[in-house]
Amino acid sequence: MEEFLKELPQLAKDKHKSHKDYFKRLKKKPPKHLDQAMQSLHDETFEEVDCLTCANCCKTTGPLFTNKDIERISKHFRMKPSVFIDTYLKIDEDKDYVLQSAPCPFLGDDNYCLIYKVRPKACAEFPHTDRKKFQQISHLTLKNVEICPAAFKIVEKMMLSIK
Ligand code: SF4
Ligand code: SF4
Repeated sequence: MEEFLKELPQLAKDKHKSHKDYFKRLKKKPPKHLDQAMQSLHDETFEEVDCLTCANCCKTTGPLFTNKDIERISKHFRMKPSVFIDTYLKIDEDKDYVLQSAPCPFLGDDNYCLIYKVRPKACAEFPHTDRKKFQQISHLTLKNVEICPAAFKIVEKMMLSIK
């Protein structure tokens, strides 16, 4: 995994144009079975990729925190939401709450998430490869393939199997 993570930014860069062109075609004419096919590719790929040997998403980027996330997580820490915000979060250019720094402060040395049960919705759903109408988030996926080995593999498999 370590080797692949090192190579991933360059691989994603090399494939960026073909991924972009592929998503452009997919958006124009998404196949009827896309949701089902994506679910299978997602499940199959996460059987092969072990997030605990990776944690690259938690190390390099962070999730958005919704108000519900903030309420739930601060309750977990028995902190006031305002104190939780001051301690861990900042507001980004889109006016969303994001982490003040990366790696995520809730990532353990063993790559386990210390707040797994109450983690932000965005973490639970990352890299969103099993969401419905996947073609609608191509801009996000083109970014995610730069950091997530599973997302990269899924897009590569899509290009071969979903025309
Ligand atoms: S979701 Fe992707 S980037 Fe995050 S740990 Fe799993 S494989 Fe790595
Ligand atoms: S909250 Fe947990 S899953 Fe989300 S980025 Fe931090 S360590 Fe990773």
